[in-house]
Amino acid sequence: MTYFVRAPHPPSERRTDAGQLPPWLLGVAFFPSCETNSVSDETPVCSAKGCRAGAVWVLAWNNPKIHTPERRKTWLACEEHREHLSQFLGVRGFLKDVVAFEEWQAPEGA
Ligand SMILES: [Zn+2]
Repeated sequence: MTYFVRAPHPPSERRTDAGQLPPWLLGVAFFPSCETNSVSDETPVCSAKGCRAGAVWVLAWNNPKIHTPERRKTWLACEEHREHLSQFLGVRGFLKDVVAFEEWQAPEGA
């Protein structure tokens, strides 16, 4: 007699990355303060979700599907999240530049 035992696969097993936004929301909700200047007088903080560390790096990126080629979106990153965020953008081919925060000069019109 053959008896099939299904391997248990509780849904909660896949919840480990629930805090991360899917790529199609990239640039939409990942850094809600981007389009408003309400926090401009505060110390710039890392763009990583939930991170409140001060920004050390500027990651310039462009999504060719929604941005013109010369358009640059920017994320701020602390020392700890620079690699994580640049990898996130890098694997999608979005990452254009990583510049030290104090050397960053936003392109005109940005
Ligand atoms: Zn961070």
